[in-house]
Amino acid sequence: MNEKKIKLVEEVIVKKGTRRCSGRIRDGKFLYYMPEALSKKQAEEIILEIRQSLLNRLQQAYQSYDYFVQNRSTITQPQQLARMAEQIYRRKYAAMIYPLNIQFRRQKTVMGTYRRNKSGEVTIYINDYFKNGPLFLLEYIIAHELSHHHFAGHDKNFYRELAQLCPDQQIKHKLASQYLILKEAQIL
Ligand SMILES: [Zn+2]
Repeated sequence: MNEKKIKLVEEVIVKKGTRRCSGRIRDGKFLYYMPEALSKKQAEEIILEIRQSLLNRLQQAYQSYDYFVQNRSTITQPQQLARMAEQIYRRKYAAMIYPLNIQFRRQKTVMGTYRRNKSGEVTIYINDYFKNGPLFLLEYIIAHELSHHHFAGHDKNFYRELAQLCPDQQIKHKLASQYLILKEAQIL
């Protein structure tokens, strides 16, 4: 990876009531979540480790950078998402039988969310970062959220459903994660 491309902005966030150290990339920054109880030296050592693992993830994601740039889509509108959702759902089911509201939305760290209200109306939000994203990544995220219509958790049945709605879902999931990392890092 071209090292000049990432300006490494880092932020340490001290978290109360946790013993876990973790890190993530968001808003162009490396964020480190540290419990209160750590000494400065302990924290520094752990941050070093987390930084390395975040860098590795970023570097891996960067291998798909050109591919993502070359495969941008023109999908930005809810109607386009709705059309895709209908097509995907019909791979298994005869017709879309529930009212679906699907749109892009600014979301933190997730690719999409599925919600159903008391009257059975379904809302799917797709992370804004995937506007103009490659078609097959949008396909993956939509299929994933549609699968939650019949299966709430991520169990065996859920993944069987997802595989039926979205061929090669595993590799698409991997690429979608890479895409999200590059977006969170503000590289893409
Ligand atoms: Zn899910």
